[in-house]
Amino acid sequence: MRVLAFLDGTLADPDAAHIRVDDLGLLRGDGIFETILVADGKPRELGPHLDRLARSAAMLDLPKPDLSAFERITRLVIDNWTDAGEIALKLVYTRGVDGDPEAKPTGFALGLPIDPKVIKARAEGVSVVTLDRGFEPTLAEQAPWLLLGAKSLSYAVNMAALREAARRGAADVIFTATDGSVLEGPTSNVVIARGRTLYTPPKNTGILPGTTQAGQYRGAEKAGWTVKVEPLRVADLRSADGVFLSSSVRKITRVHTLDGEPLPDSTEVHAEVAAAYESEYA
Ligand code: PLP
Repeated sequence: MRVLAFLDGTLADPDAAHIRVDDLGLLRGDGIFETILVADGKPRELGPHLDRLARSAAMLDLPKPDLSAFERITRLVIDNWTDAGEIALKLVYTRGVDGDPEAKPTGFALGLPIDPKVIKARAEGVSVVTLDRGFEPTLAEQAPWLLLGAKSLSYAVNMAALREAARRGAADVIFTATDGSVLEGPTSNVVIARGRTLYTPPKNTGILPGTTQAGQYRGAEKAGWTVKVEPLRVADLRSADGVFLSSSVRKITRVHTLDGEPLPDSTEVHAEVAAAYESEYA
């Protein structure tokens, strides 16, 4: 099933057309979004998702989003979801109609079922290729207009990278900077385990500050792990006890193969790290 609610609080038919063809979100990808996991009827990390929506809006000079309205329509979608199971709940906010000085941003919440491929990957792990993202890790700070680290609707590059992964026989991607350091996945953050310590790359490299990685770190710390934010190299991925892609809908997904080479078996580490993450929402 799918449930759609607009920012003014109205429910709408998700199978009908609603967005104008001259909406800048459509014409230029000029807008932002969030994807929230709803499990057991509860939206995970709702506060951090709304904060990040506001942060992305500020980076794109969009009008400040009405976060209370976004929270209301998030709950409206959840309340109208009658199927069993989890929801992938998208919040979308665009600059609105092109050329209209009175134009108001377009905003909606859309609840979708979880893609079965994602559920399979959570359980079985994924094969990943590293791909060059083509910039230095310092670029985000030098060139804020490139919007690195904003969750903008311009995800065509991220989707192209996933198709390139498929061409290479893999399911996902880990982007690297031109200096060979690890950045993030097209729709995920990278976390590795070494001994009882988790590592993830710093956010000033232009990667998205992940709500899942933050929850994963909180849960791991409570379970006795040490957590660190440090630059990582591809060699660190190969020598790790576990490599994980973290994001709201995929949760903590294990990487079992990197650039065609199997990684050491991390099934047990994954079970432990995933359980620590889940305990944050129990
Ligand atoms: N990095 C990118 C580029 C993403 O698109 C996402 C989520 O889709 C993430 C990281 C992980 O963010 P979150 O854990 O908040 O879902």
